[in-house]
Amino acid sequence: MRIAIVSDIHGNLEALTAVLEDIDRRPVDEIVCLGDIVGYGPDPAACLAVIRGRRIPSFMGNHDQAAFDADLRTTFSLLARTAIEWTAPRLDDGDLAFLRSLPYRAELHGATFVHASPRDPGEFEYVMDDLDAARQFGSFTTPICFIGHTHDPEIFREDLGPRMVDAEHRCLVNVGSVGQPRDGNPKACYGLYDTGPLSFEHVRVAYDVPATAAKIYQAGLPAQLAERLVLGV
Ligand code: ZN
Repeated sequence: MRIAIVSDIHGNLEALTAVLEDIDRRPVDEIVCLGDIVGYGPDPAACLAVIRGRRIPSFMGNHDQAAFDADLRTTFSLLARTAIEWTAPRLDDGDLAFLRSLPYRAELHGATFVHASPRDPGEFEYVMDDLDAARQFGSFTTPICFIGHTHDPEIFREDLGPRMVDAEHRCLVNVGSVGQPRDGNPKACYGLYDTGPLSFEHVRVAYDVPATAAKIYQAGLPAQLAERLVLGV
């Protein structure tokens, strides 16, 4: 079974559309979303409409939760808080009810899926490096666990071996970000997971970055949110 895993869409409709077009051209059986559908980007409601319309199973991201949980916003950076305060009033009751209903983690297709970390999904901790990753392997039992949250595509192996997925080694895989890549590559990123023989690859997809940037300026969102999309940071 082939599963496409998207994460951190962040209201970027151009990136989401390009990624789904790429996925639809491949023999993919299911799409899973690791959350942060909204926040930062100029099209939160349109991105929610796509995810809800296609009935893509999704998990709770910190920006998704902050759309209805004002307390969580107090932990955000000024940039993130400014953006979620712009976002929340642009969602209708159905969107907010959908976001409230998102689960934090689940096991599907022999893997664990969670937005930030399997150890404490509601805390949204950042798994940045091998040491952070090493602390996570006791918190899931499947051979592989998929995360997003840092927007940095990465493969962490329990044996600290090469950054690749195989059937012999347990892995924690960050699928990267659709709508706001931060690894210096502005192309949208998502993951392709094959349940057997077990394999995984990151896929990069070009999209119309200037169109999204123009919408960010037009919306009156902070200009930095447009500039970072151009650079992929
Ligand atoms: Zn995010």
